[in-house]
Amino acid sequence: MAWDFSTDDAYEEQLTWMRGFVREEIMPIETLGLEHGQMLTLIKPLQDQVKSRGLWAAHLPPELGGMGFGQVKLGLMHEILGQSEYGPIVFGNNAPDSGNAELLAAGMEMTGRQDIRERWLNPLLSGEIHSAFSMTEPDTAGSDPRLLKARAVKDGEEWVINGHKWYTTNGSVAQILIVMAVTNPEVHPYQGSSMFVVPADTPGVTILRDLGSMDHANVTYGQFNNHAEILYEDVRVPSDHLVGPEGSGFLLAQTRLGPGRIHHCMRWLGQSQRAFDMMCERALSRYAHGSLLSEKQTVQNWIADSKAEMHAARLMTMHAAWKMDQVGASASRDEIAMIKYYGASVLHNVIDRALQTYGSLGYSTDMPLESMYRAARAARIYDGPDEVHRQTVARHALKNYEAHEVPSDHIPTRTVAARKKFAEVLEFLEAEAV
Ligand SMILES: Cc1cc2nc3c(=O)[nH]c(=O)nc-3n(C[C@H](O)[C@H](O)[C@H](O)COP(=O)(O)OP(=O)(O)OC[C@H]3O[C@@H](n4cnc5c(N)ncnc54)[C@H](O)[C@@H]3O)c2cc1C
Repeated sequence: MAWDFSTDDAYEEQLTWMRGFVREEIMPIETLGLEHGQMLTLIKPLQDQVKSRGLWAAHLPPELGGMGFGQVKLGLMHEILGQSEYGPIVFGNNAPDSGNAELLAAGMEMTGRQDIRERWLNPLLSGEIHSAFSMTEPDTAGSDPRLLKARAVKDGEEWVINGHKWYTTNGSVAQILIVMAVTNPEVHPYQGSSMFVVPADTPGVTILRDLGSMDHANVTYGQFNNHAEILYEDVRVPSDHLVGPEGSGFLLAQTRLGPGRIHHCMRWLGQSQRAFDMMCERALSRYAHGSLLSEKQTVQNWIADSKAEMHAARLMTMHAAWKMDQVGASASRDEIAMIKYYGASVLHNVIDRALQTYGSLGYSTDMPLESMYRAARAARIYDGPDEVHRQTVARHALKNYEAHEVPSDHIPTRTVAARKKFAEVLEFLEAEAV
């Protein structure tokens, strides 16, 4: 019977190296306030080190230029990289590029088209270009993409795309935009949507703005991790810019979102751990009302609860990763959904407690906790709001049950049944007792 929580020695060695590398080489970058271009220059030698250790783009299989780690190894890796916002880009697996690379790879697999690799996938993997995923619209509920309004119509050898999108993360710095649009409104939405690669400089693409958000209230246009509002007006792309077969948009979205969701959950473990470390350090350092904070039961409860919740989230995430490796993303939907909403709540709670432990210092920009807290809030919304994932899990769970007018566990009813079942023995026992 296999039931093993250990990591093999060779990979544990890599993990140890990653821990040191993230702490010593990557975390210091956070404090420099660099522009996107400057940051890319600074991290180039770090990316080279990652490549030479065979850790670059570990999410993709080797035939696509990745290291093919599988989800479990990737989970252990992301837990370390997720501690810093710059960890993933130094290791070539940052969102949304990592998910978009998976999507392009899936499109290649579905169609057998190798040109996708040369044109977009390889430049994306090498970090030469960046991409954005343009699905959510301001006028329709993103939680229900069957309502998408964006349309693409075939005109000879071209597709003409019209739509209004927002929250396209990295839309203002990306060279390619992957756009989801309805191509056949006559069929069920699950069969009627498609995805297109739209080069950002195509006529008709207008980046209206980068949105101010909890991430960046005073946003500066054109920064990495901004969220763009984009108008697509009669945007013409050649027919080979269709990713996958026509009508495969939802299938591709699932291919992208399944692994993407779990990668987020893995990074959240790293963020939670970092907040936890900060909380414990402060608890041991701050003195008030006659004792250190670490000696106050409320703070001890925060530490104990956070540790237990993080442990639960970690086991759930690693189990979901293991299941994905065994049976694929589709058959692991419940596990991925559960970790999406449970992991997001643990992330939020641990950061919230850590921030509270620091008081006014935690609320200030002198500590990273305030920005971690704002980022954590978004986790309950992106990749589908928590409520939708809860609904999925509840629906699947309910399929195993049926309605009963009298509850199956109703004790008086069960007593009657038990009396009937054991009537003979009971009769004998009663006679004996007299
Ligand atoms: C930081 C961030 C980055 C993002 N990046 C991208 C990106 O790169 N590309 C992209 O295309 N999109 C992106 N998004 C958009 C994101 O995917 C959508 O915000 C999300 O799918 C929800 O859609 P919506 O905002 O339209 O909310 P709505 O669909 O309007 O939902 C609003 C609320 O309604 C409730 N609700 C919805 N459905 C149910 C239900 N079934 N049961 C109960 N309550 C329900 C939920 O509370 C939900 O929060 C990003 C969002 C954020 C915050």
